[in-house]
Amino acid sequence: MIRWRWPAAVEARRWVLWGTLLLLVVLLLSALAWLALRYEKAQMQDQLERDTVDAVGDVRAALQRNVQTLQALQPEDQSPPVWEAQAEEVLRYHREWVRLEWRDPNLQLRVGVDSAYRTPVFARLGRDNALADIEQACALARRTSAAAYAPSTFVSVQDGLGLEVMELCLPVYQGGRLSGFLVASYAMVEMLEAMVRREHTRAQEVSFTEPDGTRLALRGGIHRGPRVFSAQQMIDLPGYALVLRLDSWRASPNWLPNLLTALVLGLSLALVTVLALLARDMRRRLRAERDLADALAFRKAMEDSLVTGLRARDLQGRITYVNPAFCEMVGFAPEELLGQGIPAPYWPPEKVDEYGKRQAWRLAGNTPPREGTESDFQRKNGERFPVLIFEAPLINASGSQTGWMSAVLDISAQRASEELSRATLDRLQATARLATVGEMASLLSHELNQPLAAIASYATGSQNLLQADAAMPRAVGQQISQALDHIAEQARRAGLVIKSVHNFVRRRDQAREAVSAHTLIDSILPLVTLQARKTGVRLHLDCDPALPPVWCDRTMVEQVLLNLARNGMQAMQALPLGRVRELRLSVRPSDNAEGDGVLEFAVADGGLGITPEVSAQLFTPFFTTKAEGMGLGLSLCRTVVEQHGGRLQHRALASGGTEFFFTLALSPAPGSMALADVALPQS
Ligand code: ADP
Repeated sequence: MIRWRWPAAVEARRWVLWGTLLLLVVLLLSALAWLALRYEKAQMQDQLERDTVDAVGDVRAALQRNVQTLQALQPEDQSPPVWEAQAEEVLRYHREWVRLEWRDPNLQLRVGVDSAYRTPVFARLGRDNALADIEQACALARRTSAAAYAPSTFVSVQDGLGLEVMELCLPVYQGGRLSGFLVASYAMVEMLEAMVRREHTRAQEVSFTEPDGTRLALRGGIHRGPRVFSAQQMIDLPGYALVLRLDSWRASPNWLPNLLTALVLGLSLALVTVLALLARDMRRRLRAERDLADALAFRKAMEDSLVTGLRARDLQGRITYVNPAFCEMVGFAPEELLGQGIPAPYWPPEKVDEYGKRQAWRLAGNTPPREGTESDFQRKNGERFPVLIFEAPLINASGSQTGWMSAVLDISAQRASEELSRATLDRLQATARLATVGEMASLLSHELNQPLAAIASYATGSQNLLQADAAMPRAVGQQISQALDHIAEQARRAGLVIKSVHNFVRRRDQAREAVSAHTLIDSILPLVTLQARKTGVRLHLDCDPALPPVWCDRTMVEQVLLNLARNGMQAMQALPLGRVRELRLSVRPSDNAEGDGVLEFAVADGGLGITPEVSAQLFTPFFTTKAEGMGLGLSLCRTVVEQHGGRLQHRALASGGTEFFFTLALSPAPGSMALADVALPQS
């Protein structure tokens, strides 16, 4: 099976395309996932920023409310104990405050109340250490006549532990004159607890930091990881600026719970699956394509190597397909045949009607005979040839008939061999008849010999009697004697004719001997003369009796000479009446190609010559132009001559006739030859 393959370049390009597609899909999916992740992060960051802004708003509002609470606690006319009681009450609702103080304009402490919720913060270090902060805040408060804050300071409470505390100072005016200050100490941690909503501290870490990032207080815990989101917002207070910072521990976006990412992932998976399925489908398709191409290549190779012509026609009789064998058969190129309808270009013009009817009959739905139909086609060069056509309906994949498929066999060789065998049979019968004639001739010659011998001896006896009879008148005796001589001569000639017929028909073993050319010609002469006389031909002999003998099978060479002479005489039969008919038998010495001496035998006639067509087949067995001919003569002659080491040739003569000539080798032992002593009669 011939395996078909795509060209390497096409295969390589296909792989490159697939590789590029895969790479693009992977890149696209990665970009999508990355964008989705980034979007998620941005969303989270935004959320955190919003939370921070909210938280800062809350803190500001709470601080503002606290300032108002403090303003409500203005001492004015109150006595210190009353203020203290009020301050304690306020402290109970404000855990962020660790201490409230009422100080005079010189910042001397009038009343100080600590929060009941924790041990007094300043008890350990003493309040005076924080005085600098208070002074700073109150100086600003005095200047601005409004609440002011001091930067937070770390107040250690117990071993190592401590609090960040921020002081708030609110000036107190009485009758438009500064009468003192209210100082509130904020515990920053509690501020976060009290002022930032629970929802913010639950999910994320909330802290106050210095602008430089130093952490002051912290609320909530976070899971620290590589991707922690954080947002910060400045809280600008009079006298102090601090930063609120939110760190989200949900910040590291999770892959799966995230809808968008999950969607992208899902889509990616689906895409990859579809791609994989597509690739598999493509592979199958490719395999099917390759199988199909293989099958096509196989079919094509089969059709091209077929010697049977194939032809397909559609239902209208138009040619839709022809194979190379068919084109070769009819001599037309495929493009000259395809699409051609009725009449087909290879139909002989005289058969167009008959074939047209046959086609119409078939197109009407009739099934052609299974054993095929014999037709005659015409090649492009006009040559006719017989074909045998087998037709079958052409059924397509859906089961309907689309036309007719025909296998066409060129049967000219078969016809020729049939013809040849018929001719051979005829000739065999003729040969059988000839053999019978030969036998009869042999019998006849045997039977006739005796009466001829008797005639000869009676003639001789009569001569003797005549001479012995003295009483016979001389003149009469002479006439009778002459007549008897003629009788004896004719009897001898008849004997010679019969003898040569007998020799000719007698079967003999093949034996080479030294024979003189003269003897050879002499032996066939009676038969040739017989025929020459019958056909009105004059014989010319040109044979020097002194020529050396040749080495040959006598009977065979005689047969050759006889055949050539007979053909020559027959060739002259076609000449118009009154034309001279001459046959020349000549023998002349010559040299062969090797330079050895040979004798050339030639038989020249004055016939009409040989046409080139006849000449081409002259030596083909059974080729004849004669009604009664066997067509074996010349082929037999050539075989005999070639067996003797010579060559039978022919040439056209200027007179219009033909000369057949051949050579025979000289006898190796000239002395041993037996020269026939028959005198050649002159014609
Ligand atoms: P046959 O004599 O039986 O036809 P041959 O083989 O002897 O068979 O001759 C073959 C053919 O060659 C003859 O039929 C004749 O046409 C042609 N031919 C042979 N000799 C001559 C000739 N001398 N002149 C013209 N044609 C000849």
